[in-house]
Amino acid sequence: MPVICAAIGCNNKFVKGSDIRFYRFPLSKPQLSSKWVSSLGLKNFVPTPNTCLCSEHFRADCFRDYNGKQFLREDAVPTLYTHGHEGTRTNHCFSYVQISSLLFLTLFFKVGLNT
Ligand SMILES: [Zn+2]
Repeated sequence: MPVICAAIGCNNKFVKGSDIRFYRFPLSKPQLSSKWVSSLGLKNFVPTPNTCLCSEHFRADCFRDYNGKQFLREDAVPTLYTHGHEGTRTNHCFSYVQISSLLFLTLFFKVGLNT
């Protein structure tokens, strides 16, 4: 059975060697699992043990590094969707702006130190 992403409008499939990773719904944690379902914006959606979401729906701070590999945090909730979720789309843009301004500040400080 191919691994595909359950998010609306996302056509990511599991491809060997790809940067996109897939995560199963945390069915052993019903509270967390229901957060994942509501974040999808699907009504009456019941995830099965084979239902997966791809890594593109998780913010960078949902992951932690371990021996150079990226692991999803145990309490991570997917928040990044490009379709059907007006609110999270805004959040996505906002975090992008935050990252850019952080980069800008870093550059600014480097220039400041050199002169
Ligand atoms: Zn996806």
